[in-house]
Amino acid sequence: MENITNQLFPHKLESVISMYKKYPKRILPKGAMVTRIAPSPTGFFHIGGLYMALISERFAHQTKGVYYLRIEDTDKKREIEGARKIISISLCKYGLSPDEGEGLGGIERGIYGPYCQSDRKEIYKVFIKHLVEIGRAYPCFCSQSELDEMRKMQEEAKVRTGYYGIWAKWRDADKNLVKEMLDNNKEFVIRFKSTGDYKKSFSYKDLLKCSIEFPENDIDTVIMKSDGLPTYHLAHVIDDHLMSTTHVLRGDEWISSIPLHYELFNTLELEPPLYGHISPINKIDEYGHRRKLSKRKDPEANVIYYDQKGYPRIAIIEYLMNLANSDFEDWRNKNPTSHYTEFTLTFKKLAASAGPLFDEAKLRDISKELIAKMTATEIYEDVVNWSSEYDSKFKDVLLSDKKYWVNAFSIERSIKKTRKDIACWSEIKRFFYFLIKEEFAKPDWLKFNSPLSKNEISDILLQYSAEFSINDLQDEWMNKIRRIAIKFNFAPNAITFKDNKDKYRGHVGDIAQIIRYAITDRTQTPDLYQIIQVLGEQECARRISFGRNFD
Ligand code: GLU
Repeated sequence: MENITNQLFPHKLESVISMYKKYPKRILPKGAMVTRIAPSPTGFFHIGGLYMALISERFAHQTKGVYYLRIEDTDKKREIEGARKIISISLCKYGLSPDEGEGLGGIERGIYGPYCQSDRKEIYKVFIKHLVEIGRAYPCFCSQSELDEMRKMQEEAKVRTGYYGIWAKWRDADKNLVKEMLDNNKEFVIRFKSTGDYKKSFSYKDLLKCSIEFPENDIDTVIMKSDGLPTYHLAHVIDDHLMSTTHVLRGDEWISSIPLHYELFNTLELEPPLYGHISPINKIDEYGHRRKLSKRKDPEANVIYYDQKGYPRIAIIEYLMNLANSDFEDWRNKNPTSHYTEFTLTFKKLAASAGPLFDEAKLRDISKELIAKMTATEIYEDVVNWSSEYDSKFKDVLLSDKKYWVNAFSIERSIKKTRKDIACWSEIKRFFYFLIKEEFAKPDWLKFNSPLSKNEISDILLQYSAEFSINDLQDEWMNKIRRIAIKFNFAPNAITFKDNKDKYRGHVGDIAQIIRYAITDRTQTPDLYQIIQVLGEQECARRISFGRNFD
């Protein structure tokens, strides 16, 4: 066996003991959790990944522990260029930068690294070699076509598929044959030699699920591929041990691998971490079916979708907190000004919210509430940031006059009840279109519904411009409009009109509507007086005279 081991691992490797010395147990306060997120760089960053990152970060930090990022890139065929960078940028944008692991600019922090699995190849080899030495791993030379053939035979024989028992061709192969294969440089993988019995059951308690009974693992799983890189199963066992992970919170597609993972930990005489398997985020699709958010089918599965729309990042985080622990919403209502990190996330509530339903309408509501609480300056800064990435023309407009735009975003913000019209920054330009002096065009009066003739509208606007002063206080300004209303036989207020419908043609609101339309090209806007104050005397006068020209 020694010869074979040397042939399998011809380069000098460190010992298992030296590995344990190199990665000592972390010294942390009692109860502190060490969590991690371990994404594979295989495409865009999934909203489910962000959800798991938030949960892992919260549990670590609320217990004064450590939350780190490990890039799991051992499947080189599935790796997508640039995906690694997207992971660190997304985490940073959402305030979930890890304590250890790759940060922005590809810079790693932490003493338990390297934090990227392909850079840990030699570490895994130490343990794989050790497993071979103790007789718990062996090379397998089966080609893909042989494995396919075996599977076909198993299906025909109606037996369980997989590399186990009598089907495990190279498990007890003759040593001379193995040596010959190696001498001839035949391609091989290394398989774990399971001692489990499928007929026996294995009981397991997940952090987030009820106790589960599994059959023991008896599959001789590949632990090292022909390219020398380990598979996830072995790599995560080594890494989570060496990096002192206490709680592995991962997607529940891994739960069926638990018997294998426990067997690997036991074989290496290591204590397994606690596992919590998180159910994926669901959605109701166009056919009314509940299903997992799909990477391929649903644009909203990609974190970039929320960025493009310009949801404030804190809204996404608060929404995900809601999905994770349903009592977060209650807490938020009782603590409207607290930071979300003051809420304590629990496994109990997380377990109860299995397979949470993603609902963008709910996200919009949360976002509107949060935007309503922001100051105009905060909004300005966020919108500038968003538009520098997604609307550079609008960014230039915003940067050309900060004071003007902060005033604009202050409209109906200083009064007790702030408007809640905006859910994301991509909506703000359309909403405030009438404040973009550079883009404002002449209103189309053909679309304006009014009992008044063109000439009367023109007269009203003329009258208004004669009376208008930017220095008028709101009451004064309103009184001026009332006077115009009376002149044109409109009631000075809605109640008077209601009681005397045959006496008046309408009421003051109809006159204000004409002014609103001339100034904003809209029939519905936030407070007109405030809009006028922001636009200023000159711009208002220009629009009013513009509005009188119907051709
Ligand atoms: N790389 C694995 C995945 O992306 C991570 C599983 C884990 O967190 O252990 O599914």
